[in-house]
Amino acid sequence: MPLPRLGASSPGARPTAPPCPRRGGGALCAPLNRVWLLDAGPRLARAWAGCTCGTRFGIGAAADAWRAHSDAADRPDRSAWLDAEALRAVVEGVPDAGRRVPRAAPGVVPVGEPVIHAATAWVDPADPAVAELAQHMLAVMDAAPGIGLAANQVGAGLRVIALNFPKLIPQVWVNPVAVSTAGEWTFAEGCLSLEVEGSTADVVRPKAITVVADLPGGGHVVVEADEMLARVIQHELDHLEGIEYVQRLEGAVRDEVYDRLEADGVDTDLLPPRPLR
Ligand SMILES: [Zn+2]
Ligand SMILES: [Zn+2]
Repeated sequence: MPLPRLGASSPGARPTAPPCPRRGGGALCAPLNRVWLLDAGPRLARAWAGCTCGTRFGIGAAADAWRAHSDAADRPDRSAWLDAEALRAVVEGVPDAGRRVPRAAPGVVPVGEPVIHAATAWVDPADPAVAELAQHMLAVMDAAPGIGLAANQVGAGLRVIALNFPKLIPQVWVNPVAVSTAGEWTFAEGCLSLEVEGSTADVVRPKAITVVADLPGGGHVVVEADEMLARVIQHELDHLEGIEYVQRLEGAVRDEVYDRLEADGVDTDLLPPRPLR
């Protein structure tokens, strides 16, 4: 996702974490996200909450919640991972970070390319090719600038996403899986693979999401995300399934956006509607 315009309304947070220590009677200061970082085994390394005020504070005692989320995650074992040789070939085929093509940010693959519209492959998070891809994705995301990027957006059909919330969460996630969602929230989305005037539109999605993901090189995270972070994660998880956000639009908004895309030469047959409701 590209950087959003500021000023979006905040409907308030779920009570998911202890009160923020900086809270001074201001009702807007409330924890939005909980993050559990685990080492390569089942051992909790660190846990923290991120608050609306920007504060991050420890929540080490809340171990039962991450265990429940981890247990609920339905992820394939290593037999489903792409083999190392194929993985290396995919990463070596990634275009240069400076390559510029129509309707996409530099280094980004536009809607219309098959890799954008296909489900991506599970990968070995410890493979050095994944770490290499991660560095490339972070550079492309920063240059765009964007707040989220999926690997197939840089031409690699792999289950890797980059998220630009450096104070809150690890930046690159491998094999992420949604465990649960809650609520509903409308927020405007755009995409670095669909830079067409007028294509930014309000999308209705769950307000909160819980995700389990591996980290490049080892360990994994369990994240309860809300609002903005939850939105970006959902947008990128859709990419990993070959789904572009405009496919989530409905009714008149969809018609308007699709008209603009067609006027710009986008083949909307590649974007069949996939409404969430
Ligand atoms: Zn706070
Ligand atoms: Zn996107």
